[in-house]
Amino acid sequence: MTERIATPLRTRAIMERYGFNFKKGFGQNFLIDSNILENIADAAGITDEDTVLEIGPGFGALTQVAAERAKKVITLEIDQKLIPILSETLDGYDNIEIINTDALKCDICRLSIEKNDGRPFKIVANLPYYITTPIIMGLIDKKDAVESMTVMVQKEVAERMQAGPGSGDYGALSIAVQFYSEANIDMIVQPSCFMPRPKVASAVITLKLRDKPPVDVCDTRLFFRIVKCAFGQRRKTLLNTLCNQGGFDISKEEMTDIIRSAGLDEKIRGEAMSIEQFAALTEKIYEKIK
Ligand code: SAM
Repeated sequence: MTERIATPLRTRAIMERYGFNFKKGFGQNFLIDSNILENIADAAGITDEDTVLEIGPGFGALTQVAAERAKKVITLEIDQKLIPILSETLDGYDNIEIINTDALKCDICRLSIEKNDGRPFKIVANLPYYITTPIIMGLIDKKDAVESMTVMVQKEVAERMQAGPGSGDYGALSIAVQFYSEANIDMIVQPSCFMPRPKVASAVITLKLRDKPPVDVCDTRLFFRIVKCAFGQRRKTLLNTLCNQGGFDISKEEMTDIIRSAGLDEKIRGEAMSIEQFAALTEKIYEKIK
């Protein structure tokens, strides 16, 4: 086996050799525990038929492990200073393509057409925490380009993605993630596994993109507009947020009838509602405004 990149010794040696300093602004907390990387690759289920897309390779710790299992690895790194370092640390692997770009600006659907014959990628990443939500929200509905995402995120964010009605963690992110994917927390990772150490614990979560959502929704945009509104002011009732913030041209009396006709109590709050109940409400509001 080629020497592992993810050890404290090797990481320090690379830093010294290149005079590299971690950039907080790019969320640079590198993994220094090889076992965790093998576990991430196991959770992602990478085989030699897969093309893996990685976001943020750092020194190439996860890239290396993925390349030893996958047919090909494409990796997107924003920090220009890391590109010559990666050429050296990943020298000897002929199935890795490094692209110096901002993952948030990258068109993943185009990338899958250009680099993977239009077939979906398995995404793996130790995500920079500042872009966790935009990355996940940007990819979660791109079924044609993404088969699954196995990503390291803050533990608290992973818990929000998996939360259900009635939990304080439940919100618009939980609904979006569960609407488009099956979410499973694979493991909790302690700060001591990173250099530098983050302040909070992390978790690896796998999101397998669904072929179709778990409920039929007549108008997906309207569904998410209602969800966003319902969680916009958590302490208010659904009726009040929909009437005050929803931007629907519907009176309070009419909205009360709509909520009741969807089988809901008019005093219900968004945080108590299941995805199915949001779908039923969307149907009733759609009938009223269409
Ligand atoms: N994969 C490495 C590891 O596990 O050791 C590094 C992970 S580190 C948490 C996040 C990486 O993402 C850094 O290399 C950082 O420079 C890169 N990054 C930050 N923002 C990015 C962006 N918008 N697009 C692509 N890469 C980004």
